[in-house]
Amino acid sequence: MIRVRNLSKHFGDLVVLSDVNADIRKGEVISVIGPSGTGKSTFLRCLNLLETPTGGNIFIDDVPLLGKKTDVPKIRQKMGMVFQSFNLYAHLTILENLTLGPIKLLGKKKAEANRKAFELLKLVGLAEKVYSFPDELSGGQKQRVAIARCMAMESEILLFDEPTSALDPTMVSEVLAVIRRLSKEGMTMIIVTHEMEFARNISSRVFYMDEGIIYEEGPPKQIFDNPQREKTKTFINRIRSMSYHITSPNYDLYAMQGEIEVFCEKHGISKKVSNYVALIAEEAVGLQTDFTDISINLSFSEKDNTVQLVSASAGAPVNPLEEGALDDDLGLRLIKGRCKSVDYSYENGKNILMMKVKGE
Ligand code: ADP
Ligand code: MG
Repeated sequence: MIRVRNLSKHFGDLVVLSDVNADIRKGEVISVIGPSGTGKSTFLRCLNLLETPTGGNIFIDDVPLLGKKTDVPKIRQKMGMVFQSFNLYAHLTILENLTLGPIKLLGKKKAEANRKAFELLKLVGLAEKVYSFPDELSGGQKQRVAIARCMAMESEILLFDEPTSALDPTMVSEVLAVIRRLSKEGMTMIIVTHEMEFARNISSRVFYMDEGIIYEEGPPKQIFDNPQREKTKTFINRIRSMSYHITSPNYDLYAMQGEIEVFCEKHGISKKVSNYVALIAEEAVGLQTDFTDISINLSFSEKDNTVQLVSASAGAPVNPLEEGALDDDLGLRLIKGRCKSVDYSYENGKNILMMKVKGE
């Protein structure tokens, strides 16, 4: 359905895309991941000609996009784009937001456009909001309207550019659920996302972008569990773990807990377990005697569904697990109560405490 050949995009001297090649079949769901600034958005924008590629070509159903005779508005309509921010018309009702394009650009009759809009709003769970204005909706609801609006334009391919990254965490799942539903219905979709659990579950293939190309692509299992190339490995390892560095007893506890919460959410870890992890991290720091160099590392293993928390603290060896090592062992008892295992070792001048947190 989509063929990309030697696509390049330069902004002046800046080479963002150097040689992108891809084949996407009808009904495929492609997740695009990679460090920020690697041209993921630019790639999507080139696909629907919001940016003019510098070189190469894109074929949609064998029609070259960059031909002189290309009907650009028609191509854009074929490929609906859902942005981070929802771009709804504030002065129009939800219904009007959905019918404006079909009436003006597709030449639909009002009654037919309305009927279709009702149907689509039902599909995204917003049938009761037809006469509301965008301001009356939450971010998650607005994003679902934006998705319905692409569908109203009879888009055959949906392009999503980080559709949940501007949303409150509580609203991410409702938008992902709608995207999931569309994928079940056979919609062809390309999704730039940071939601790795989602990408793993929904995608037929994952594109890892780096160095101006699709650096590695494959089924989600390969990319997430067994990446083949160097940069992919580094990226995957980095997103699978989180690290927080502490250099004084007056460290910012809430910042650390905030990062833990974000990490847990990304990995689909329940709120309850996430709260345990935050608590354990706090207690683990509290066990230390030397605060000059403590790092708290969090990683998640999908295999056994456990969160591993490691504290590494520079200084003389002190084993908190030894009988009588602590004046007050309340913190340690809390940790033990919440963990499957707690182990101590001393390596390279650091006290290492490794804790495996119990799941639900
Ligand atoms: P990503 O979506 O992967 O974070 P982008 O595609 O947004 O990356 O951007 C890739 C690079 O291109 C960045 O360095 C960005 O600053 C640059 N860039 C994007 N759009 C433009 C533009 N219109 N003009 C100049 N530079 C741009
Ligand atoms: Mg981007």
